[in-house]
Amino acid sequence: MSEALPAAIVAQLDALGQALREVTQVHRAGTLAILEAATLSAIRAAMPGLLGAVLTESTTSLKAGGVGQTVACSECGRHCPVPSWRERAVTTGCGEIRGERPWYHCTSCRWGWSPADQTWELVRRTRISAGLADWLIDWGASTSFTDAARELGKLTGLPISPETIRLYTEQRGTELETVDEAAAQRVQETRAAAAPLAEAPGTLVWNSTG
Ligand SMILES: [Zn+2]
Repeated sequence: MSEALPAAIVAQLDALGQALREVTQVHRAGTLAILEAATLSAIRAAMPGLLGAVLTESTTSLKAGGVGQTVACSECGRHCPVPSWRERAVTTGCGEIRGERPWYHCTSCRWGWSPADQTWELVRRTRISAGLADWLIDWGASTSFTDAARELGKLTGLPISPETIRLYTEQRGTELETVDEAAAQRVQETRAAAAPLAEAPGTLVWNSTG
């Protein structure tokens, strides 16, 4: 017998099932185009809740007793007591997710952090997931920001502004330039280090014949 599904996931799937049944009732004998659009719309509407359920189910620090009574500060190591819970909203490829997660505040070095954010590798203060940022950047790099926003909106149903796409695309461009410069610098340094070695045998030959 297969393992029972987590209640949070079943609840989301059940809501999706209800929404799809409604599609069949509202659009009885509907055309493929109408049913296709309505089904896609119902699934998109269910996606943030499904992702939320998956995160809740898979993230230890979100569960009761998931984090200890105290947790070591990730900056200074001081043990900090039971946290407060803080809300965070992030737009992902599955839509906008919003929820509370434990938030620690170190009284020693004043660092604030969330173990859940660390587990998710969610960058501080970002409002867009790394996965969605990659989509924005791919589109932003291949067409105008206005066209990118329109196409992304059509394919994902997410309202992303051309300005957001511009910000992320330009930021990634700057990061890549920095990486390129660092690589060029390393090549220069390697050549500089290698040059005297290459010259050394010549110098020895010159000395022995001179
Ligand atoms: Zn600290």
